[in-house]
Amino acid sequence: MGQPRRDSEHSLGFVGTVVDITERRRAEEVLRVAQAELAHVSRIAVLGELTASIAHEVSQPLAGIITYGEACLRWLDRPQPNLEEARSAVQRMISEGRRASAVIGRTRALAAKGVLQRAPVDLGAALEESLALLMPEMRNRGVAVSVHVAPGLPAVLGDRIQLQQVLNNLLLNAMQASAAVPAGQRSILVRCERLSAPPPRLLCTVQDTGPGVAPANIPALFDAFFTTRPDGLGMGLSICRSVVESHGGRIWLDEQPGTGATFRFTLPVRETRL
Ligand code: ADP
Repeated sequence: MGQPRRDSEHSLGFVGTVVDITERRRAEEVLRVAQAELAHVSRIAVLGELTASIAHEVSQPLAGIITYGEACLRWLDRPQPNLEEARSAVQRMISEGRRASAVIGRTRALAAKGVLQRAPVDLGAALEESLALLMPEMRNRGVAVSVHVAPGLPAVLGDRIQLQQVLNNLLLNAMQASAAVPAGQRSILVRCERLSAPPPRLLCTVQDTGPGVAPANIPALFDAFFTTRPDGLGMGLSICRSVVESHGGRIWLDEQPGTGATFRFTLPVRETRL
């Protein structure tokens, strides 16, 4: 901090302070850009994890379109074309096409490199959209997911894609941890609710039935590059923390011995109903 000083006209100035603020603003801007870059890299890593199931999700409706297209031609090529059947085949082609395009839309949103937004976000809807992308992979790995979103949750102010990234990272970690237990015991519980104690906040919980976190690993859990997985990046939780904290919230591991891992985060809410 600069010292106040008097110049020749005896007016009081805070020369050093002005310089400090400019420097701090520049540093904050650099940090913001770096965080956005990291969040983007981590979203691409999530996409990498999901490539096989996304390809499957898109190729299924495409195969459907071809089948219904062929059926449609057969109905039209008959000596007496059956227009009713042809129309219904075309309708199925359209709905399969919409299905494929919805998958691509969700994937593109995740891969997009956008400017950070500050807008009201419906966390329940953001969660639903994340799950639409992750569920095929969860099913492949035999992980049951149950979701409880309290009705009438207020909006949080923030960046929808970044907040979805927090949910994606926690859900993917829970899915990966589930691999360590037998197929019939893999389950994840996601809850979003409103905290009754002030200040107004939402609480989200992602709980799994995996092996949990070893006590020795807890202090470093949210540090960048901390990983215990051979192919891990160690960025997931560190990005979760920086996103949640930049939204004015908190994230932590709730230690509940013998129950897998329970991650919780809070976000401040705007007092406008969605
Ligand atoms: P990565 O997944 O690349 O290792 P993360 O930052 O997402 O990076 O996680 C860091 C470490 O935290 C993981 O390597 C793992 O040891 C631990 N961890 C995270 N989530 C869970 C979980 N749900 N159950 C058990 N351990 C977890």
